[in-house]
Amino acid sequence: MADKDIKEDESVPDACPHCGNKLSSWQQVLLKVDRALVCKNCWYRILLDVRPKDDNEKKDLKTNSKDEVK
Ligand SMILES: [Zn+2]
Repeated sequence: MADKDIKEDESVPDACPHCGNKLSSWQQVLLKVDRALVCKNCWYRILLDVRPKDDNEKKDLKTNSKDEVK
């Protein structure tokens, strides 16, 4: 029913990973929109992962095919 909403919430932390300070719901919205938010408690910059794994996989495939050609 509300699967989409649950998944979106999971991608945004509800607390600062550095000091554990709880983020307000509007701070979580800002983090979701900007992909970055500065914790007001410890000034740690919280960044949302933008899935760099996809790029790494592509690079790995390229190097792998190079080895195969060799
Ligand atoms: Zn913090």
